[in-house]
Amino acid sequence: MIYLDHNASTPIRPEVRDAMAASLESLYANPSSMHREGQRSRAAIERAREQVAALVGASPGDVVFLSGGTEGDHEALIGAAWAQESRGRRVAISELEHHAVHGAADVLKRLGFAVEHLAATREGYVDPRGVDLLARDTTVLSLMLANNETGVIQPVAEVAERAAARGIRLHCDAVQAAGKIPIHAPSLGADYLVISAHKLGGPKGAGALIVRRGAPLEPLLRGSGHEHGLRGGTENLSGIIGFGLAAELAARDLESERARLIPMRARLESGLREAVAGLVIHGERAPRLPNTVNASFPGARSDHLLMALDARGVAVSAGAACASGAVEPSPVLTAMGVPRDLAVCALRISIGRTTTAEELEQAIAKIAESVRVVRGAAGVAR
Ligand code: PLP
Repeated sequence: MIYLDHNASTPIRPEVRDAMAASLESLYANPSSMHREGQRSRAAIERAREQVAALVGASPGDVVFLSGGTEGDHEALIGAAWAQESRGRRVAISELEHHAVHGAADVLKRLGFAVEHLAATREGYVDPRGVDLLARDTTVLSLMLANNETGVIQPVAEVAERAAARGIRLHCDAVQAAGKIPIHAPSLGADYLVISAHKLGGPKGAGALIVRRGAPLEPLLRGSGHEHGLRGGTENLSGIIGFGLAAELAARDLESERARLIPMRARLESGLREAVAGLVIHGERAPRLPNTVNASFPGARSDHLLMALDARGVAVSAGAACASGAVEPSPVLTAMGVPRDLAVCALRISIGRTTTAEELEQAIAKIAESVRVVRGAAGVAR
């Protein structure tokens, strides 16, 4: 299988797998226990906290471990909105956010909060000037660092500055950016930053929320004082150990991987352009992650393409969701103004650490062949 779906999840790094396996064997005590064994578990968590903090230029004390991106987004948006309820019951999110942020906003709506949306441009990023138009009683704004579908990098620092000037706290979902581009949390200016282990060579089910000192936040999971009182529950010890090591290795390899992936992405795009008539690359002119290509293959529906590629041993992701036979365009592409007939023909191809140049050449040929087959079956001229 040629795996080109690294934005969905990454293969675990072998060193991480080994460290986790060893920890499952040797570290069984509860990190909250006072005895020596408990303290060994505690020390492993604190080491991982340092490793994760270093990846994003934060202080270890600002890191709250939790179960991943979805929980982090819920904790940040809902926790920040609750903590500032006396100032207003209104939050804002960009139109480009991941389902996890839309889901957290839905919880707030259910609780009677108002939710506003920050519009996207055709190139796939939000216009920072939109912040100046948000209602006065807005307390939190969510803007991701890099979009999971297009890879487009958002103007987070500028948005953070404009938000701070209006007393609005900023939540930044950096799940797709972490490990792919350098992140320095203090310069970014976000009050809450979320990352997830399985997107950077770590295990599924571990993530972190980085909280800027003094930023208001209420816990969702209560009842015990874990994670500075911000996330109750016995820690996912082996997951956190794996996360820490994955973060350290991602930081170590970040520049070399970036330098390797950028020309590979360029080759993928030029190869597809040569082979497929009418190809449209979404967000092409915007700054993007080094690993992500989101392209429409007019006349070839993404669910059909996905199946044709799977049959040929290539794993990618559809830019459109397929529910019971009908294909729905991605809300991200729709927010960018991509017409429906083009949006339902989009694929997300995301390369990564394990992708080789040879695999890429094979994938280009297989994608071109699949487009021909799908267009042929649909009666579209090739
Ligand atoms: N945010 C973004 C931008 C993502 O791409 C994802 C995963 O696809 C998530 C949040 C959710 O992360 P997790 O799978 O760790 O819950």
